[in-house]
Amino acid sequence: MKSNPDHPTPTSRFAGRGHASAWPEARELGYDEGVRARTEHLLERVADVVPQAEWPLHAPLIDAINRLKVERNAVILAHNYMTPEIFHCVGDATGDSLKLAQLAAESDADIIVQAGVHFMAETAKILAPEKTVLVPDLRAGCSLAASITGADVRRIRQAYPAYPIVTYVNTSAEVKAESDICCTSSNAVQVVEAVAGQWGTDTAILIPDEYLAKNVASQTAVRILTWKGACEVHERFTAEEIAQLRSEHPDAMIITHPECPPDVLKAADFAGSTGAMAAFVRDQAPKTAILITECSMSDNVAVENPGTRFIRPCNLCPHMKTISLAGIYESLRRLQFEVNVDPDVARRARSSVQAMLDLPGSEKPPAFDTRRPITAADYVAV
Ligand code: SF4
Repeated sequence: MKSNPDHPTPTSRFAGRGHASAWPEARELGYDEGVRARTEHLLERVADVVPQAEWPLHAPLIDAINRLKVERNAVILAHNYMTPEIFHCVGDATGDSLKLAQLAAESDADIIVQAGVHFMAETAKILAPEKTVLVPDLRAGCSLAASITGADVRRIRQAYPAYPIVTYVNTSAEVKAESDICCTSSNAVQVVEAVAGQWGTDTAILIPDEYLAKNVASQTAVRILTWKGACEVHERFTAEEIAQLRSEHPDAMIITHPECPPDVLKAADFAGSTGAMAAFVRDQAPKTAILITECSMSDNVAVENPGTRFIRPCNLCPHMKTISLAGIYESLRRLQFEVNVDPDVARRARSSVQAMLDLPGSEKPPAFDTRRPITAADYVAV
């Protein structure tokens, strides 16, 4: 993994393990001239999205995290939905969950701190089983991952033995382990078409996000069956809200995520994964952009696109927002909370993830064509 040039490079294996007491508790860290000097280049980067008045609270934690991770030979994987002081100031690798897990596997760090939710930490552990994987807060769950269990997938398998089961990466290791192949919001259409072709069938089961499945159904001739799961952040957006935004900001580019309902995508100018959304803004450089997704995404993309004005009609993910700088610091200091996956589950889950990675990838994250008519996707009957 390429290290972030703003952060020191980890050097020694578990160099500081067992010395938590040498580092003060988060609440004891203070803002002084040394901290100010060591973090001022980071403040410059996020000055437009992090209020100046908050910096004396963030800077001591940022400084301590960046020094402690060198001592621990640790890297921090920061998901796109992390707040900007995490994403831009302590993240060594940033992006969507799969990109983060792949970077984790390539890293020579001993410890991975997942600044994201639990299923992401599990995916990192699946792809990097020899590393210690930590999640800073055990409350960091996910409504989508919680909507389905391994037992549910086994029941689907029993009911539909002739159809391949494609599982979104936003699921537990146990669910991945029961599936044939994983997909992301970026490659879901490609995976469904490839696996249906391999199985010689006109139908694929895409679980657990019903909206991602319905949006994929409108992009492909493959018949899609799905599950009634949803992301609580994206399912709340409505086509009426998009129409209202369009009338208030007629020049804005409206950019949506495929976990939104199909009529939301239909009302937008562009739809794609978080990676595709960020690439679209970078490539098109719109004067005004509206990202229909989790709140922190706009802040993080704004830092890299100062020429674009962002309107923020966002929804917060309460699970992502359990991750804080203080939590990351304590996670590194106390080496908590370690995420482990049963070796047999990990082996089978890795095979589903690997089946996806073995498919040819596209250089640019593909987009969903928002002009296509909406196609139905039935639920599996189990
Ligand atoms: S944004 Fe949605 S899919 Fe992501 S962690 Fe939150 S609830 Fe889960």
